[in-house]
This record gives sequence, C-alpha cells and structure tokens, in this order.
Amino acid sequence: MKYDVVVVGGGPAGASTARYLSQKGAKVLLIERRKLPRFKLCAGCLSARITPLLPKGWESEVLNKVRGGLLGFRGEVFHEKLEPESVAYIVDRSSFDRFLVNSAVEEGTVLWEETEFLSFEPGGTLRVKTDKGTVEANFLVGADGFYTRVGRQLGYRKEKYFRSVEFWTEGDLRDRVVIDIGVVKRGYAWIFPKGDMVSVGLATTGKENTLSVLKDYTAKHKLIKFGEVKKAKGWMIPFITSEGELQLGKENVLLVGDAANLVDPLLGEGIYYGVLGGRLLAEAITEDPSNALTLYGEKLRKEILPDLIYAGKIAQLAYSFQWAAFRMAGGFTMDRFLKLLRGEESYIRLYREGLYDFVKSLLSFENFSHIIIDKILRRR
Ligand SMILES: Cc1cc2nc3c(=O)[nH]c(=O)nc-3n(C[C@H](O)[C@H](O)[C@H](O)COP(=O)(O)OP(=O)(O)OC[C@H]3O[C@@H](n4cnc5c(N)ncnc54)[C@H](O)[C@@H]3O)c2cc1C
Repeated sequence: MKYDVVVVGGGPAGASTARYLSQKGAKVLLIERRKLPRFKLCAGCLSARITPLLPKGWESEVLNKVRGGLLGFRGEVFHEKLEPESVAYIVDRSSFDRFLVNSAVEEGTVLWEETEFLSFEPGGTLRVKTDKGTVEANFLVGADGFYTRVGRQLGYRKEKYFRSVEFWTEGDLRDRVVIDIGVVKRGYAWIFPKGDMVSVGLATTGKENTLSVLKDYTAKHKLIKFGEVKKAKGWMIPFITSEGELQLGKENVLLVGDAANLVDPLLGEGIYYGVLGGRLLAEAITEDPSNALTLYGEKLRKEILPDLIYAGKIAQLAYSFQWAAFRMAGGFTMDRFLKLLRGEESYIRLYREGLYDFVKSLLSFENFSHIIIDKILRRR
C-alpha cells in the first residue's frame, strides 16, 4: 500500500500534522505504538493562543479554565495576577490526544494503533517498516516524541532538555496556576489544577535529584498542604536555544514536535508548538512537495523560531538570577506574560522591553558586582 505521507506518533504534533494533511486531500497513514487513549505524563496546560489551531469541539476537552495565577519564590512569597478571561486551559492528555487523533481520522487519516515504527529505507519512494508490515510513502513524518526513532535513524541526538517529575494529588486551585522559581537550579516547580485534583511537578536542566527536591518542595509549601509524594513519574522535555539545534529532518523525512525540539526553553511548553509545527509542516508538504523541507524550515523560522530563541534568552537570565527575576515579575511583567499566553504579546518584546527592568532589579536587590551586570548587557 502506498501513502502520500506516513506520520509516526499520535501525540499533538503527529495528530495535527495528519489532520491538516488530510484536510488538504493527502492520503495519510498515522502510526501509534500504543492503544488510544494512552497515558502521557504532562501537566496538560494549553496557552489560550492555541485555540484557533484546534479542531471543532475542543472545549469539551477542557478540565479547568485558567485566569492567571501566582508566581512564587520557593513556595514562600508570591505575586498574584488574575484576568477576567481565560489565559490557558487544562486538559487530560490521554483524552485530549485521542480527541486530536479522532479529528484527523474524521478528516480521512488512516490510523494504525498498537503499531511500532521500526525503520525506513530512504529514496524518492520511502519504504516504512512497522511491526505490522511495510508500507510505501512519498514522505515520512517523525512526530514520535523525545526518543524519536525516526530522528535517531537520521543521526540526531538530544542535547538540551529539562528533566521533569510530576504527580497528581488532592487539591483545589480552580482557575489559577502556581509557578515557583528558586526551587531548582535552572527551571521551575508548578502546581496546576487538574479537574478536581492538582498536578505537582518540576522541570530542571540542573543535575539535582528531582524526586527529593519535589518532596522537599511539597513538604514546605506555604499555600497548599499535600499528601505524600506518591507515584511521581519522570520524563524529558527537549528544547532549543539556537537555530542550529532545530532537528527538522532530511530530504523527504521530516520531524515535528518534541522530535524536532519544538519546545520553549522557559516554560517547557510543547503542545502549542507541536500543533503549530504540524500545521506548518502540512502546508509545506502540500504547497511545494519538491521543496518541502526548505519551505518547512522557512515557515518555522518565521512563525516559531523567534519565540523559542527569545524565550531562551529570558530563561538564561531568569534562571541564573532567580530572586531578581521574581522581584521584577510583579504587576506589569506578569500582565504582559498573561497577554503572551493569549497570543497578544511576544517573547521578543518581553525580552527587549524587560531587560532594563531586569537589570535594575538585579542592581537593587542583588549585591552583584558591576562586572556581572556588564556581562549580561553584552549578551543583548
Ligand atoms: C512532566 C511534563 C509536563 C509537561 N507539561 C506541559 C504543559 O503543561 N504544557 C505543554 O504545552 N507542554 C507540556 N509538556 C511538554 C509536552 O508534553 C510535549 O512537548 C508534547 O507532548 C509533545 O508532543 P509530541 O506530539 O511531539 O510528542 P508526544 O506527545 O510525546 O507523542 C509522541 C507519540 O509517539 C508515539 N511513539 C513513539 N515512538 C513510536 C514508535 N516507534 N512507533 C509508533 N509510535 C511511537 C508515542 O507513543 C506517543 O504517543 C510537559 C512534559 C512533561 C514531561
């Protein structure tokens, strides 16, 4: 059997790529190794800017509408900001991902669940091997997550990533999220609503023992009393801070989502960029099949890369000087951050216009020498 495109991975990136391709009339096979719905470790927070990219009916997947929240320092002191309208939505990933895959199937995508992608033989017509047999395709899309088998066959390895742990417990946050900095060396801890429960976790690029930091964090938190940290699970979140770290694929084998490192290095937000990346990839394949990789790269450089690069610059400063970042983040900065989640602000503007306030905060509240300040200004 021959397809226009075989997509590996039924997460947000793969399901969206398949849906957009099918909408444009391509013959698409979507391969997912697990039976759906499948578990995916994730806090499930969608920034509101994703909603125009979602299929009709997405509202029924929403467990909690988030209007803002608290930015804390080590769970001890907090800034709070709430908007009248939602800035983010919480979903359950197993149900949300199945919804996205079903939407692709409704548009004409053929789905093979419980099917493992094994390898491909390159060529104008690719031979894609799975544990259920071999199919042919003009394009192969690797949307197979952090450990991407498609990407590894192309020779890619992951270099930058957060190590993350998460568990769910009783709790009631209603319409707000809690993000705490100062807890890990480079990254943050979170408490997000999850229906009637809460998701508690942390993500760090440091080398600390994530589980013991999580236990300590939950034991000492001022706002919320947790039960025991039971059944915490860990997973990796890749990210990039420069254009050269994008892993987009080669010739007619293309990557998207975590497989391509399309995740922001400040928050580890990957669902929005995976879904948007899927749309851009589908457009590139259908608009100019003979030049799809180049076109995909151009679209990503325009619509996604600036966000990721400038989120990385903010992360570099904020996670190096966490107390100064916390001190400056009240009021105006939080306001703008919530706007960013709604798609009304950009990381570039946040960085450029926030840098002066950040340095002021560093000078006022941290007793660092002028040499360090000079260093930061030179990174601009
Ligand atoms: C603890 C934690 C919390 C997070 N919280 C958030 C959050 O709140 N908001 C946010 O935006 N992002 C969050 N992220 C990041 C987010 O989960 C990922 O960026 C997102 O899932 C990427 O989507 P994807 O489709 O690229 O990959 P995935 O969702 O990982 O999907 C990949 C799919 O490919 C399948 N697959 C893999 N290999 C094969 C194979 N060989 N054959 C067939 N199928 C295969 C897998 O079974 C899987 O279904 C979090 C991550 C973690 C670890």
